[in-house]
Amino acid sequence: MGGLICTVCNQTYSLNDPRWRCECGAVLDIEFTPVFDLDRIRTRRPDMWRYREAIPIGDDAAIISFEEGFTPLTEIRFNDTPVLIKQDHLFPSASYKDRGASVLISKVKELGIKSVVEDSSGNAGCAIAAYCARAGVQCEIFVPQDTSPAKLAQIRLYNASLQMIPGSREDTAAAVLAHAEKGYYASHSWNPFFFQGTKTFAFEVCEQLGWKCPDTLILPAGNGTLVLGAFIGFTELTDAGIIDAIPKIIAVQSKNCAPLYTAFHIGLSDVPPVEKAETLAEGIAIADPIRGEQILHAVRYSGGDFIAVSDEEVKASLIELGSRGFCIEPTAAATTAGIENYLENARYGEVIVSVFTGHGLKSIEKTWKIRQ
Ligand SMILES: *Cc1c(COP(=O)(O)O)cnc(C)c1O
Ligand SMILES: [Zn+2]
Repeated sequence: MGGLICTVCNQTYSLNDPRWRCECGAVLDIEFTPVFDLDRIRTRRPDMWRYREAIPIGDDAAIISFEEGFTPLTEIRFNDTPVLIKQDHLFPSASYKDRGASVLISKVKELGIKSVVEDSSGNAGCAIAAYCARAGVQCEIFVPQDTSPAKLAQIRLYNASLQMIPGSREDTAAAVLAHAEKGYYASHSWNPFFFQGTKTFAFEVCEQLGWKCPDTLILPAGNGTLVLGAFIGFTELTDAGIIDAIPKIIAVQSKNCAPLYTAFHIGLSDVPPVEKAETLAEGIAIADPIRGEQILHAVRYSGGDFIAVSDEEVKASLIELGSRGFCIEPTAAATTAGIENYLENARYGEVIVSVFTGHGLKSIEKTWKIRQ
């Protein structure tokens, strides 16, 4: 049932080969033909595993789940224009990263792996730690020293060991690579199984719209786990003949760290790393995205665009949504700031879907600085 394939040299490996990159060093993708039996899906529990035959895990007994997903798709008005928001801040570990972690750690369980390592600016670490706890798999999470305290506490609560690395997010990525030999590297940027989880975002949106495709998706982009997941998911739905074409993807970056935005607008097909400045949107501040070329390709192929937002816009959007009863974290407010930016030029009547990526309680100390 499918295999791993290198994005550069086309070398293939078995889906049960416990490797996270190609022998040549490049990132791997998964070749797999999903099955969608809409009548069967309809009768199942409202969680992301209702698309079971579209997820490349062989053994049902390996599935690690909290019955997560099928999050509400809620209409919220931005400057009087309705936008459908996927409330993915309501996942068990309080960010959409649980989609990827559920599938990736199920694969870890299926392979019989006993310990994993992962690096993260916070939320992916929380998600991997939660699913490892449920799976009984040992886990070591590397984070930058300045990660939000609530995320550190959450990782420790799940009983993962925590390595706090001085310096930048990139220093943390370098530190984990030195340990990636010790345990399986459950990386949300390298490991292709993670994207087989985030793709369920597309399935849920499509089903919640009556198996129809929205016109436009507005999504955050750092490492691109949601952009690429959505791209894979909508492409699979198109290939299966359920929808005609994929939606236009508008990807949002922080102005303080915008390598993809810059490369896109210069017309490059690869992504030179940038120097980043500090930003409120810590979760998308990725200076050197591993899958940068893939993200550019996905957005271009969809007929989409990149938007970059300032910390001032992030702050304003966080405050506005809070005043309307929504508790999201600053990184999530980068996407909602992007919505406001996009709507200045949107077509009347466009069906727009976006997302709340992370819960506000995850970095509430930042919100306290903004709102006290
Ligand atoms: C991970 C994350 C993002 C963006 O994800 P990338 O995979 O880096 O593109 C956005 N918001 C929150 C809250 C996140 O945790
Ligand atoms: Zn290769």
